[in-house]
Amino acid sequence: MTMSIFRCAAPLWLMTYHTYFKENKMDKSTLDPPPYSGPGPGFAVQQQVVVVSQSLPTDSPGEMMCPQCRINVVTMTEYKVGTLSWLIGGIIFLTCFLPFCWIPFCVPSCKDVKHTCPRCHTTIHVHKRL
Ligand SMILES: [Zn+2]
Repeated sequence: MTMSIFRCAAPLWLMTYHTYFKENKMDKSTLDPPPYSGPGPGFAVQQQVVVVSQSLPTDSPGEMMCPQCRINVVTMTEYKVGTLSWLIGGIIFLTCFLPFCWIPFCVPSCKDVKHTCPRCHTTIHVHKRL
C-alpha cells in the first residue's frame, strides 16, 4: 500500500526512462516520432537553385571565374579584329575612301576583346562588338 502511494506520489521526473516504460508496459517506439518518409502524396520536393549572375567584362579587364583554375581572376585583355572591324572597313572601302580602309583594323574600339586568364591563359570570354 505504501509502495503504491509512493508510486502515485512520486513525481514523474524521479522515474528513470527505463522504469517508466517498464511499469507502463510500453514500447519505446510508441513515443518516438515515426521515421520521416518524405513529403506525403501530392507534395513535390522543391529544390532551390541559386543562380549567381556575373556581369561580363567588356573593354577593360574584369573579375571572372576561370573554368580551369576555378578561382576568381582579373582577366587580361587582347584586342582582335572582329565583325565590326570588317563591317566598317567594308563600308569605307565601298564608299571609295580606299586609303582609310585600314583604320578600323587598328582602332581598339572597333575590335573584339578577348579576356584570358593570367595564370593558365585560357580564353574565358570574348566581348564581341556585333
Ligand atoms: Zn585559369
